[in-house]
Amino acid sequence: MTDWGARAEALLIELSHLSEPGPGVTRLPFTPEHRAALDLLSSCMETAGLKVSLDDAGTLVGRLAGPPEGGTFLMGSHQDSGRESGAYDGIMGVVVPLIALEKLRADGVKLPFSVEILAFADEEGVRFPTALLGSRALAGSYDSSVLDMKDDSGVSLHDAMVSFGLNPGAIGELRRDPKETIGFLETHVEQGPVLERQGEAIGIVTAICGIERHQISVIGETGHAGTLPMEDRRDALVGAAAVVTEVNRIATSTSDLRATVGALSVAPNVVNAVPRAVQLTAEIRSPEDETRQAAGDRLHRFAQQLADDTGLQIDCKRTYSQAAQPCSRDLSKHLEDAMPQAGGPCIFLPSGATHDASAMADLCPVAMLFVRCRGGVSHRPEEFASSGDMNAAINVLAGFLISMRKNPA
Ligand SMILES: [Zn+2]
Repeated sequence: MTDWGARAEALLIELSHLSEPGPGVTRLPFTPEHRAALDLLSSCMETAGLKVSLDDAGTLVGRLAGPPEGGTFLMGSHQDSGRESGAYDGIMGVVVPLIALEKLRADGVKLPFSVEILAFADEEGVRFPTALLGSRALAGSYDSSVLDMKDDSGVSLHDAMVSFGLNPGAIGELRRDPKETIGFLETHVEQGPVLERQGEAIGIVTAICGIERHQISVIGETGHAGTLPMEDRRDALVGAAAVVTEVNRIATSTSDLRATVGALSVAPNVVNAVPRAVQLTAEIRSPEDETRQAAGDRLHRFAQQLADDTGLQIDCKRTYSQAAQPCSRDLSKHLEDAMPQAGGPCIFLPSGATHDASAMADLCPVAMLFVRCRGGVSHRPEEFASSGDMNAAINVLAGFLISMRKNPA
């Protein structure tokens, strides 16, 4: 009997070598490493009986054609990595469904719809300060102004794509017909510790968390650190510290909420001066939009009260907000039906990170399957998912497609 998980592992090891030199995997979009990964994936797709093409957003598409009236189900993830990152984030979500199709073929299963395996060029946004190019192109939410963005060497996204043999002017035509598109399923390493703690190989994602960001400015007054009496001070950093503590308190006292102060700058930022001004960010994520918005409102009320109590000038602005993306109940039910194939109970969990599935949700129903990663570690060379866990995911994906065949979403 074929060990499908071992096949996935072998292919992922081979792909991990298609990287810039250095620790871990660095495979950025529209580079020779990207090209090498496409060549290897293309030959695997062709061996599996898929028709391979590359669209003008750089997405590799492997199509297993079914009856024309059956529509198309999409599966996949991104080929690119972070810098000195792991061998599973993204690319595993291309390899695992591809091998699930191989398994179905070996089992003699025919599907009444077409299936496409997608390898998006750029999800991480590491080379260019934009992301989700391929999935947005399919969903019709792509914004052509991103083509002017430049990488660290001054090469524009437009020029990088042209050098890669693509026609960025045609990306607008890649939009898929929602009526022809049954859904999108993304398989991804969890990038967190939940599945490992529960002792389960795989889990079904309930929703991709919404995100909001706040820019907070705290203004006080500077002075000599040795001569200004403590009772006369309006120390901006002491105020900012209270904000940081409150952000943490809000998150730890609310279920399904993450909140982080990730960036902070202090002026004048010298050892013997009372801090005059602090700029800081707060980022809040939750699978429930109401929970997230209430947390943001609570932070603003706290900042107002702190300003009143201390005489500091505190401004709090919500600078970004992205709604949570619930996964399709119908598609998730088909995943649930297939779970016994993996031999475990069903674990449901939200995704704290954004994925291509967030963008694909503008096109069609989406679902996500998470695979346990060792230690919850991701975006590091140590990132690891076992062949046994990938085998469980392959079985579930194959079972999912069979379940869809019997009773389409
Ligand atoms: Zn990813």
